[in-house]
Order: sequence, then C-alpha cells, then structure tokens
Amino acid sequence: MTRAALYLRQSLDRDHRQEGIDRQRARCRAEVERRGWTIVEEYVDNDVSASKPRGVGTAWHRMIEDTKAGRVDVVVAVDQDRILRGIRDLVTLLDVGARIATVDGELDLTTADGEFRATLAAGLARFEVQRKSERQRRANAHRREGGLPAGGRRAFGYTRLKAGASADWPKRVGADGREWPDYGHEPKEPEASAVRRGYAMLLAGATLRSIARAWNAEGLTTTVGHEWEAYSVRAVLANPRNAGLVAPPRSATDVMTTHNLGLGDLPVGSWEPLVAPETWAAARDLLADPVRRSSPGAAPRSLLSGIATCGICGGAMKAGVIRDIRSYRCSESAHLSRKRDDADHFITHVVLERLSQPDAAALLRRDDAPDVGKLRAELLEAQQAEESVLSLVGRGLTTVDKAAATLRDVRERIGGLEAALSDAGRVDVFGDLVAEAEAAGDAYDARWAAVAEAWAALDIDRQRAIVRKLLAVEMRSPGKGSRAPRDAAGRLAHTEATLALTWL
Ligand SMILES: [Zn+2]
Repeated sequence: MTRAALYLRQSLDRDHRQEGIDRQRARCRAEVERRGWTIVEEYVDNDVSASKPRGVGTAWHRMIEDTKAGRVDVVVAVDQDRILRGIRDLVTLLDVGARIATVDGELDLTTADGEFRATLAAGLARFEVQRKSERQRRANAHRREGGLPAGGRRAFGYTRLKAGASADWPKRVGADGREWPDYGHEPKEPEASAVRRGYAMLLAGATLRSIARAWNAEGLTTTVGHEWEAYSVRAVLANPRNAGLVAPPRSATDVMTTHNLGLGDLPVGSWEPLVAPETWAAARDLLADPVRRSSPGAAPRSLLSGIATCGICGGAMKAGVIRDIRSYRCSESAHLSRKRDDADHFITHVVLERLSQPDAAALLRRDDAPDVGKLRAELLEAQQAEESVLSLVGRGLTTVDKAAATLRDVRERIGGLEAALSDAGRVDVFGDLVAEAEAAGDAYDARWAAVAEAWAALDIDRQRAIVRKLLAVEMRSPGKGSRAPRDAAGRLAHTEATLALTWL
C-alpha cells in the first residue's frame, strides 16, 4: 500500500489562475485514486506571501518532518507551483527522500527518470546558490570599502538600504542635525529607540533575556517576524552598525573576534548611528564576558544571590530552598544560611533609604563621567606615537629591540585609554531612581515613595546591579538556637544584626 499525503496551498499573491483549497483537494484525491494509493494525511498551508519562510508551525514543515520519519510514501499536489516555491524547496524534498507527484504530471519523483531530472535541477540550483553567495560576498566587500552598511535583509532599528546606494547620494538631515546620504538605512522608530534602550538596559546590568522580554512586550519582532530571544538580542546589540561603524566581514563578526578590534580598527560608516561608539564598545565588552556567555539563560531571580558573601569563609551566598524556606546559603560549605525574604526586604529598605537622601544625586555622580573628547584625543595621540615608532623601525632608524620597550608602553596606554572609553559608555545605573527622587522635591517621605515606586518597576537584574554598586553585604550567623522574632519590627532588627553592610 502506498501511503499518499496531499499538499494543498492557497497563495494570495500569485497568478490569477488561483485554485481554491477545495478544488485542489478534489483534483489530488482523484489522482490518488487513479494511481491506486491511499490518503493518509492532508497538509494545508494558507500562505499570505510566497516569500515568507516555511518554518516550524507550517504544514510544509510538518510534511517534511513526517516524510523524514517515514510516515508518508508520496506527496501529491496539483502542480509544481503549489508545492515548490523555489528550487531550494526541491532540494529540501530530495534531501528528506520525498517522492512527489503533481496532478498535471509536470513533476513525478515516483519514477527513476523523474528523480534523475529533479536531481539534475537540484544540482544546478545548488551551484546557482553558491555563485549567488560569492557575488554577495564580493558586493559586501565593496560596500565595506565605501563605508556603506551591509546589504541584504533590513537591519533591526534601520530602514532598508536602497539599491545602488553610495556614500555620495543626495543628502538628508538626520534627527541629530547632521547630513547623511539619503540611501535608506536611516533610524526606524520605534525600533531605533528600542535598540538604544537595549544598550542602556544591558549596561545597567539587565540580561539579554530581560531585554528580549521588554522588546516582545512592546510588540517588536525581529525583521523576519520572530519573537525576540536572548541570542537574537545579542546579535543586534553586538553589531557595530548601531554605532555607525562598518562591521568586519561576516566570518569575523563573532563577538569574541570583534572584541579584539579596537574602536579605531572599525571604519566609520556613512550612516546615522543609533548610539555612541563608546556605548557599543562597552556593550561588546559585556557580551564578550565569558561569565555572561557561559550562563545565558540562568537569570538569578533573587536580589542577593552571588552578591552577598558568607561571614565565615567569604564565599558567595547562593539562593536556594532549605526545608521549604527560601534561603541564601554559603556556596562553599554549610557554614550558614539566612532567610531570603527577610534579607531581600531589609536590603531593599536600606537601598531605598540611601537613594532618598538629599545627597544621593551627588553620591551617585561621585565617579564623574570622564571627558570622552579628551580621551579620544589622547587615544589618537597614542596611536600616532605607535605608528611613528613603527615607521622608525621600518626605515632602519632604530632597532626592534630598542623600540620594543617604547612600543610596550604606548600599547599599554592605548589599552588603558580604550578601556576608559568603554567605561565612559556605561550608563549610570542609578540615573532613573535619582531622577525620580529629585523630581519628588525635598520632603523625605515623598522622595522615598518616588524612589520605591521606581525601584519596584525595575527588573531584578537592574535592582541587583544597583545593590552591587552601592554596598557589600556580608551575612553572619545569628548564633546557635537564635530564632527570628515573629513581629515585623523584631524581625527587621534581627535581620539587621546578621547583615554586615559596607557602603562602597
Ligand atoms: Zn562560608
């Protein structure tokens, strides 16, 4: 018994000889009957566009999976256009070993001759795809040399790059008041703002996951219509394009590789940036951090896990559950454990109180933002010094040995300046909270309420970043047999007695 499956597809953007699903079904059934097969399954796709990818969730995808699993012997469709939207689909079908027959007889992979012709077509198609990607690579290299953004799919945050774009196209005035070539690839709202906020969140300590959640909550999707996930957010934020810098070739765009490139190594593009180069560089450093890479999904849900330390051994206190009670316990040994809710509650109070003080704004401005312009000038100077030493070596005016010490010094300075520039890009983690307090006026209670409200609206990553920046928390043992009192004030005092705080 040959098990046949029907593939029916309604496409709205094709020709006018449109055939409804019912009509397709009737014709396919007649064909199956004529051949003496048995229908085991029916796959119906209601595509809006022929160019939409046929991913997970589509009937096409299910059909491929079922064929792969050997549940279907042959797939029947009315004509080739119905089942194949391109030669690539044919390659996919051949790869999973599908046999296909169309009612109009155009395609018949149930015979050896039909298969031979299809395989030939698929081979040609693969060749064509290869040539196309080579052309694409050459075109991209050409674009990079001209300071143009990469072509192809639209970049999130930007409008599509127009065909034939060049850096000396007629100009338009950007939102930043500067003139930019009017070749498309200009900031596209609300995506551009979301990208800027994404950087701010990341640099304030948010995880990629929480940025993905925020973007999804705003109803934003990737440029191919998918929901945001940590990895796709990473891909957007790691791209130097957002800082108006020309990305290195694709093979080198891995975050770790880009990490080794100084800001000066990336050519400045001819399009409007969404964020400052320092902001992008700071984000790149964070994303390249191996700690962050190794645990992409494990966002801590407690305020102090990994932040508070054990008063006995100095190890990190980690969140856990002990005898049904949410607790922090020493990660090194069973030294001590504290009730998580009490500790979180107390630390939150301490933080809100501190940020409500009249001098909070001054306190938080303590590490004054470095002068980016000055840093950049110094960096340029150091880079020029490096170049002149190298040129002296090149012209035989000094030896490599003699130059080595100088070069080491200069390069150390360059490294330090680049790091300082990256730091300058980190946004102030307290910014919002302090602004709320300032806006609430001078009365302490009003300030406290404003800060508390703003605090409650922050996600846990942001709250943790603030705690980390404000104070060191050491947990101590309450002593043998000591029990927390039942009343709220008593518990607060008890918690206070077991937490040693150091303001940073
Ligand atoms: Zn310990």
